[in-house]
Amino acid sequence: MGEKYQQKNLRRNRMGKVLIIGCGGVAGVAIQKCCQNSEVFEEICIASRTKSKCDALKEKLEGKTKTKITTEQVDADKVDELVALIKKVNPDLVMNIALPYQDLTIMDACLECGVNYMDTANYEPEDITDPEWKAIYDKRCKEEGFSAYFDYSWQWAYKEKFEKAGLTALLGSGFDPGVTQAYCAYAKKHLFDSIDTIDILDCNGGDHGYPFATNFNPEINLREVSAPGSYWEDGHWVEIPAMSIKREYDFDQVGKKDMYLLHHEEIESLAKNIPGVKRIRFFMTFGQSYLTHMNCLENVGMLSTEPINYEGHEIVPIQFLKALLPDPATLGPRTVGKTNIGCIFTGKKDGKEKKAYIYNVCDHQECYREVGSQAISYTTGVPAMIGAMMLLNGEWNKPGVYTVEEFDPDPYMEALNKWGLPWQIEDNPELVD
Ligand code: NDP
Repeated sequence: MGEKYQQKNLRRNRMGKVLIIGCGGVAGVAIQKCCQNSEVFEEICIASRTKSKCDALKEKLEGKTKTKITTEQVDADKVDELVALIKKVNPDLVMNIALPYQDLTIMDACLECGVNYMDTANYEPEDITDPEWKAIYDKRCKEEGFSAYFDYSWQWAYKEKFEKAGLTALLGSGFDPGVTQAYCAYAKKHLFDSIDTIDILDCNGGDHGYPFATNFNPEINLREVSAPGSYWEDGHWVEIPAMSIKREYDFDQVGKKDMYLLHHEEIESLAKNIPGVKRIRFFMTFGQSYLTHMNCLENVGMLSTEPINYEGHEIVPIQFLKALLPDPATLGPRTVGKTNIGCIFTGKKDGKEKKAYIYNVCDHQECYREVGSQAISYTTGVPAMIGAMMLLNGEWNKPGVYTVEEFDPDPYMEALNKWGLPWQIEDNPELVD
């Protein structure tokens, strides 16, 4: 193992060649940021289900970057197709920016080919009626006490395999999960001796002018927000009905917004990795129009993932809905306003009570001017590039499967300032009750 790992590392330091899977809203930003950073990303191959999207982006970027770009078609649900592609491209790292459904197939292919892996969201199955998956899910709901379809157990199960192969898998390097965990690691390293509570606040003050649209993949987004909420308190999960805890918060540069407590994946890893933490919650802002539409769609069955037969065709309602809704990648020119995403901490430093809020404010129109997309794709795509850079330049290499807070936050936090997501610290923030 050691020798293979060292060889990979030596090669990694000489060149950076990355295979990027997916070419949607988030990948589009990550790819453009890689191309702004050609010293690290000397060569990228963009591979997705629909190759024409990869070709169109390549055409847009060529001549404006030193990064060499190639494109391929791949069905990332199929391990054998992925293995053939990875062998052909021979990258130092695979960036999975497709959907959470593909996390395990891409991890399997990386292991088979001896290549490092990263993604932006943890695994969830496309088919939640699969009896094999359902049996494990039901057991987990009972044992852990939260019922979201996604959780880290599937990918943490690869830890030993990645360790043995001398490969690194970095999970969830978007904004939340991702940057929020870097904020936590930074707070733990530099601001606090002990952290008591963490409130992660995700505020989108942007307006796209549509009565209803989602800012990233509608299927993943609607599954997430229509699920029961949950938070971590005193060593266990507390689950609540969807959208049943509401607070108002006055966000810097955005103003007052209603926000709702959701289950979110980084709570699960932070509960393990921030020793002594007593409570972790996640809140996201939603406007009334969004909630009214979502409730109505849920009530009529349009959020269902179970196939129905309609006039001889099998239709999955939420996939049909996705086809009707605006493509998140097209929201860029219409979206105005800002996002404000960050973490509020309480705890102790030098024996005294302390609080702090680390956050980023991002302007939708500035993102559009830079990369042609709105801030949600931008705030996810930039950290995807940064996570990849941490692995490529060797800052974050340790064999195994890890989330962002398990690495040294300093080079990542520095890169956020440099690559478009500057952060700030408020020493006396308003707390959420
Ligand atoms: P999109 O739907 O815009 O893009 C997904 C891309 O993956 C598309 O190019 C799609 O191809 C491709 N794809 C889907 N299935 C396959 C497959 N079987 N084989 C190959 N390619 C496939 O999604 P987003 O860009 O909005 O989201 C990307 C990821 O980012 C998701 O995992 C999402 O959960 C995550 N995310 C993370 C956030 C964070 O802060 N951590 C925030 C927002 C999103 P095609 O064009 O053919 O459909």
